[in-house]
Amino acid sequence: MDRNLNYQLFYQAKNYISGGVNSPVRAFKAVGGIPIFVKRGKGSKIYDVEGKSYIDYCMSWGALILGHSNPVLIREIKKIIENGTSFGIPTEIEVEFAKEICNAIPSIEMVRLVNSGTEATMTAIRLARGYTGRNKVIKFSGCYHGHVDYLLVQAGSGATTLGIPTSSGVPKDFVKNTFVVPYNNLDAVEKVVKKYYKDIACIIVEPVAANMGVVLPKNGFLEGLREICDYYKIVLIFDEVITGFRLTYGGAQTLFKIKPDLTCLGKIIGGGFPIGAVGGKKEIMEHLAPVGSVYQAGTLSGNPPAVTAGITTLKILKNKQIYKSLEQNTKFLYETIKQNIKKFKHQVVLNYIGSMFTIFFTEKEVYDYETVLSADTKLYAKFFHKLLENGIYFPPSQFEACFLSFAHADKDIEYTTKICKEALIDV
Ligand SMILES: *Cc1c(COP(=O)(O)O)cnc(C)c1O
Repeated sequence: MDRNLNYQLFYQAKNYISGGVNSPVRAFKAVGGIPIFVKRGKGSKIYDVEGKSYIDYCMSWGALILGHSNPVLIREIKKIIENGTSFGIPTEIEVEFAKEICNAIPSIEMVRLVNSGTEATMTAIRLARGYTGRNKVIKFSGCYHGHVDYLLVQAGSGATTLGIPTSSGVPKDFVKNTFVVPYNNLDAVEKVVKKYYKDIACIIVEPVAANMGVVLPKNGFLEGLREICDYYKIVLIFDEVITGFRLTYGGAQTLFKIKPDLTCLGKIIGGGFPIGAVGGKKEIMEHLAPVGSVYQAGTLSGNPPAVTAGITTLKILKNKQIYKSLEQNTKFLYETIKQNIKKFKHQVVLNYIGSMFTIFFTEKEVYDYETVLSADTKLYAKFFHKLLENGIYFPPSQFEACFLSFAHADKDIEYTTKICKEALIDV
């Protein structure tokens, strides 16, 4: 086995793919070194081109709640693609899948399938704008909703000012309708809403933030957003691309008992295939073309392999034991780390919910983007590489969530906990 294959591939990749990767965080810039190239995945593990195995906590950024190459999923997908891979014409399984999603998530009466989380949020916001006839959007700093132009924005100076683009190529004009406020800060939301409510179409939020590391909503935060939206007739959008079917079968909204007007889904509902979905009240959803005047379309939307992977995943997830077992495993990791915290060289804060968690290298309570940024990314990088050397793949950035899958066995969790503990004593 060639021990330098990862290096060689990355070297070649950089010549032919911009930055050597097809999505930036994969390039290991935040942790240094070079990425591993995966050859295959099975259950909780991935195997790189050099033949080394890793217990995987990236799980395709949370998409693979059943683990890699689940045998039932693979069997169903193989069966369906024998009969064609895409038609651009309606199929029966799309109806079955839509019903399943509507039954699972109480706020969703109707759904529209798209091909990615980005498309889902983009569609939800266009729909909210079309439905309300208003233009402005409120988002929270540190929440990620895909790479939609007007959502690639950070807070300007002062919490109530309009945002500034975080990516070049996004004209200032494109973000002039986007307000950015701190997560978990209802006062900041109210301030903006009171002044601009006549122009505000929607508030979009990750009900549990997972794209700045895991950050939980404070008590009353989501309820408060619901109240504000009801009062000012603003559309409340929950971006559940990560949390949908991860925290419970019905997503974060079932756990916290809050009904948003629109919900964005992705990741898990594709079982590892490209998919996304927008769902919500019929009254709003029927503003989409062809019934309504809000345009949205997709050549590959609702294609058979993605829909089959989705249906099969959801069927398996109906077993509530899965969520129980996922949470128990995460809790074991959390509690062992908590118990040993005094032994660590540096203070850490562990945020977790359900089957996702982040270990932040900070002393502060982490509840918004500002407190997230107090984390020491250099320490995380050292920690990350210690785990990698020991066959554990954490996401290559401090500001991402770790995900467990149902395929993670007790011995995987025990080994991971042991290595994490050793690494935390060491770094
Ligand atoms: C991943 C993610 C997206 C974007 O989904 P893509 O499929 O990568 O376009 C949007 N919102 C949230 C909360 C996500 O985690």
